[in-house]
Amino acid sequence: MAKVQPFNSKNEPHYHDNDKCGPGAEIPQYDRLPGTGNKAKCKNCAKLDGD
Ligand SMILES: [Zn+2]
Repeated sequence: MAKVQPFNSKNEPHYHDNDKCGPGAEIPQYDRLPGTGNKAKCKNCAKLDGD
């Protein structure tokens, strides 16, 4: 698993930080914002990260 710099989508209430996260990978480049956006972490990413 690969943890990456946090990113989030304008259209989602959470952020991603794992490049194996399917929903995260589906976010188109133009919808991606760097950082956490002060949002909660994606549950799928948390699982992948082993949190
Ligand atoms: Zn995710």
